[in-house]
Amino acid sequence: MSRLAQVIDLNKCIGCQTCTVACKRLWTDREGTAQMWWNIVNTLPGEGTPRGWQTMGGGFVDGELVLGELPSAEAFGLAWDYDWEALERAGGPGQRPLRPLGETPTWGPNWEEDRGGGTFPNAYAFYLPRLCNHCSRPACVESCPVQAIVQQDDGTVVLQEDKCQGMQLCARACPYKRIYFDTVAVGSKKCIGCFPRIERGVAPACVRQCPGRARHFGDLDDPASQVHRLVREWAVALPLHADFGTEPNVYYVPPMLPAPLAADGTVDLEGTRLPEDLLRGLFGPGVRAALDRLRAERERRRRGEPSELMDLLISRRWHDMLGGWDAAPNARN
Ligand code: SF4
Ligand code: SF4
Ligand code: SF4
Repeated sequence: MSRLAQVIDLNKCIGCQTCTVACKRLWTDREGTAQMWWNIVNTLPGEGTPRGWQTMGGGFVDGELVLGELPSAEAFGLAWDYDWEALERAGGPGQRPLRPLGETPTWGPNWEEDRGGGTFPNAYAFYLPRLCNHCSRPACVESCPVQAIVQQDDGTVVLQEDKCQGMQLCARACPYKRIYFDTVAVGSKKCIGCFPRIERGVAPACVRQCPGRARHFGDLDDPASQVHRLVREWAVALPLHADFGTEPNVYYVPPMLPAPLAADGTVDLEGTRLPEDLLRGLFGPGVRAALDRLRAERERRRRGEPSELMDLLISRRWHDMLGGWDAAPNARN
């Protein structure tokens, strides 16, 4: 028995979407799955994927399961198609090869990529990778009347496609709106936690392929694992929307961003350019203490003193971030 978890350091995520593409190439590049992004990196502030997911409902209220809104395909963002031939020719006079075919889209999977908040010179933005949280109390599992979604011994929540009848109650119940619909296979689909890799000792693709070394993986119940130390001991990694009641197992080190500039142009080392209500809304009231701890340890390191926390977050030995799941992937996965 173990409880697999991820910790994603938002101070290291560069929004490159390598994790997104790694997942897509492995699991959702087949017919009927073009619109699916089991892993997607949203830019904040923004409405995310699907659009407005934070207010669509689901999860548990007063301990009772709630069926929220069913996100539309448009809210997730449709799969755009292109004039591939023109793209390969890199365009020409009068050509717009990067424009999707058909109607001009007004929304997409990460529509707000280059948008930020605040005002110059204290503008701000940060990246929030999102995937199924493999919750300890998964609303999707409780909502499915035919038990098509199961939680494995390691905590991974898996949808059994042969049992799914396409009722989409799981997609309504998941408050993170991380369940898609396959219109060809006529059934729901979600992140599988890369279980075929896990069984062979290989970390999930979204973790292993991250060039920012932003993602830690491992057994949350193992005191030696980085995820345990960051979540349980240092308490600097927090779940997203713990208020949804599903006990998620993806944790985030909150973003610090550079200190803001004061009106006279000097750096305000005591200030923050990220609105606290935005961070509290995402990560709960513990976010202030987590940020204070991060800043204090960063200052220790600046003074040349040792800091176990900074060493953990830097992780000079990349394999240490994989929690023991450091076997090499094979050609298939
Ligand atoms: Fe962030 Fe890593 Fe994903 Fe790039 S691959 S977007 S750095 S989590
Ligand atoms: Fe289920 Fe959603 Fe939790 Fe994933 S994030 S386990 S789909 S409730
Ligand atoms: Fe995709 Fe695997 Fe990451 Fe899930 S754990 S988002 S299936 S790469």
